[in-house]
Amino acid sequence: MHIHTLPALTDNYIWMIGVNHDALMVDPGVGEIALAALQTECLNLKAILITHSHHDHIGGIDMLLERYPDAQLFGPASVPHFQLKKVHHDEIIHPLPDMSFRVIATPGHTHDHLCYFQLDEQALFCGDALFSAGCGRLFEGNGEDLWVSMQRLRALPEVTRVFCAHEYTASNLRFVQDLWPENSHVVDYSQIVTKRRQSQQPTIPSMIDLEKSINPFLNWDHPQLIRRICEQNPGISTDPASILTALRQAKDRFR
Ligand SMILES: [Zn+2]
Repeated sequence: MHIHTLPALTDNYIWMIGVNHDALMVDPGVGEIALAALQTECLNLKAILITHSHHDHIGGIDMLLERYPDAQLFGPASVPHFQLKKVHHDEIIHPLPDMSFRVIATPGHTHDHLCYFQLDEQALFCGDALFSAGCGRLFEGNGEDLWVSMQRLRALPEVTRVFCAHEYTASNLRFVQDLWPENSHVVDYSQIVTKRRQSQQPTIPSMIDLEKSINPFLNWDHPQLIRRICEQNPGISTDPASILTALRQAKDRFR
């Protein structure tokens, strides 16, 4: 199994998994880019996994299914396509022969956002639920939803590689350095990311153990972060949903 990184639009990644001559696409937002990659690698598209129905994740579906009409489309109910196979939390799916994914519901960014955890290779395709050093904006969900989602992702094996849908790492780390200056992992990792971005290298995939050390949204119960959030929001409740709501609001305000 080989996972190809296809940059698209300003800062999106489409993920293409190739096994022998078969391929699986995750969140093909741009049809031309996805088709060109399939042709270059001589791969036959068998399946498409969708995390949520924002256009930069589904924009290429029609073009792909026109060329590969037998490809199976998996995703949440809100994906607007008659060929969609709706999938649900904790379901195990086999989009390619001998390849299993566990579906993980991660509400918050959208109500029905899904992640896909590849069981054998321990690779997580998490769309806009989790980013490196950040998380997706709460367009539809609230802090309770975000807590449910972050608990599910934090519980994954530490060696899980994290394939999110956007290259937001550098700007996320600027926020985290400002919010959590005591965290030396953030300082160290920021230097690595700066170098990588200067040479136009992706910072994705990340890994769950790295994210646990730098990502504030996976650290709703860290005493330093709780203290900081309480300083910024006097009188706030320190339950996880309130802390995560305040963290997300601080990120939304950060420039
Ligand atoms: Zn989105």
